[in-house]
Amino acid sequence: MNVILLGPPGCGKGTQAARLKDKYGVIPLSTGDMLRAAVAAGTEVGKKAKAIMEAGQLVPDDVVVGVLAERIAKPDVQQSGFVLDGFPRTVAQAKALDDMMEKRGWKLDHIIELRVDEKALFARIDKRVRETVAAGGSVRADDNPDTLKKRITVYREQTQPILPYYARSSRLRQVDGMASIDEVTRQLEAIVGRA
Ligand code: AMP
Repeated sequence: MNVILLGPPGCGKGTQAARLKDKYGVIPLSTGDMLRAAVAAGTEVGKKAKAIMEAGQLVPDDVVVGVLAERIAKPDVQQSGFVLDGFPRTVAQAKALDDMMEKRGWKLDHIIELRVDEKALFARIDKRVRETVAAGGSVRADDNPDTLKKRITVYREQTQPILPYYARSSRLRQVDGMASIDEVTRQLEAIVGRA
């Protein structure tokens, strides 16, 4: 099974992707995590991505598509399917993904938008930062109010146009991302649990 979770930063995609993994065994694929790993490792991709990510902008499509293509070629994804969190973020990425899927003879089974009130996102990111600090972890460089504002604007301008792209081919479903974490999981499972 292959799933895409769409929605702005802080809408809960990562949390729900982890839960879908636990229940269905699908592999969570976060391009943000892949890029942060590349930055930490100081690879060529990481060098290209670092400043862009810190500014809350999008890393160029060809770079991100390359990173994702490499990851989905690995045996675990081939075997178990994926849940994408943070990709696609532009219509060009959505088209590149459609091409990748077609070439492999795979299909996107579920494309689901987590709908949230933008005002709630600041509170959620703030909570994520406080929880990370309390757990002794390091806070993401782009989890601060100024960069978050930028990331939400970028979502509205560059990522939201994906929604009509998928809706045109009747592939888009929505869940209420403002509900409790358990309720969102329940709504997701009601969609993906269906054959
Ligand atoms: P995330 O962890 O999904 O919030 O991503 C963190 C940052 O990584 C984003 O603000 C972008 O700078 C970059 N990024 C992650 N995924 C993508 C993508 N699909 N396209 C472009 N940039 C991305």
